[in-house]
Amino acid sequence: MKLQGKIALVTGAGQGIGRGIAEVFAQEGADIVINDLCADERTEQVAETIRAMGRRVLVVKGDVSKRADVERVFDEAQKLGPVDILVNNAGIETIVPFLELTDQQWEDVTNVNLKSEWMCAQAFCKRAIQEGRKGAIINIGSIQAARVLPGRTHYAPSKLAIEALTRNISAEVGQQGIRVNCIHPGLIDTPMIRWVLESPDILPQVVAQISLGRPGLPHEIGQAAAFLASEEASYITGQSLYVDGGWVGK
Ligand code: NAP
Repeated sequence: MKLQGKIALVTGAGQGIGRGIAEVFAQEGADIVINDLCADERTEQVAETIRAMGRRVLVVKGDVSKRADVERVFDEAQKLGPVDILVNNAGIETIVPFLELTDQQWEDVTNVNLKSEWMCAQAFCKRAIQEGRKGAIINIGSIQAARVLPGRTHYAPSKLAIEALTRNISAEVGQQGIRVNCIHPGLIDTPMIRWVLESPDILPQVVAQISLGRPGLPHEIGQAAAFLASEEASYITGQSLYVDGGWVGK
């Protein structure tokens, strides 16, 4: 098991990719802190699945786009023990034509997708460095860092910027033994993109651009994240990996 004895905090882990990552990490031996906006039936289901694997689990609700919530989430996570791995997964996507985009819509998407990753990474690194612990951070970006889809002039920059965030943080904390990498998922079967999966017009057009000819599954992002979080990736930092079934490369 790649992550035996580790504690991982996954943001936005109540469903979708975050849930997939949390479950793969638990299979690989990690105890899990599940963060999401609400602590509800969804988060309890994820927690139950992880407990059934024999791992410890803690649900900590909080809006990671807000500084006070970020600090509280990291403080509460300590109940499980010191956090070794942070997965910055929480994100939102809205679709708005460029000429209609408002300041509020720009800020909402940028705050959840980008500012939250910076704030959580900072909260994680400060604690780890103070306590003399090494660690790993996985930032979740998007295929849209490299592909243009209509109505995403706010979403796409928030995701491309995560590459620069990843590189820059990795350069500042590498000496302390903290590795920082980014995964750009392609089309992954989650509630966020259910409308694409259920559209008989749009789905075939998107799938035709993917070398493997199908959407990915949340646990396939989890497997890549588990590798990057593990000692198997001990000399990898500052990188961005497309886990997209061969979309960006086609
Ligand atoms: P999802 O199904 O919408 O799940 C996202 C989870 O994050 C939800 O449980 C959501 O809670 C939670 N969340 C949203 N804002 C939050 C906040 N401020 N603080 C804490 N939790 C928050 O999305 P997903 O498809 O799994 O996407 C996960 C990540 O992958 C996102 O960063 C997304 O941009 C990225 N991504 C997804 C795809 C894809 O094809 N699915 C592709 C590329 C990148 P609520 O449900 O309560 O809002």
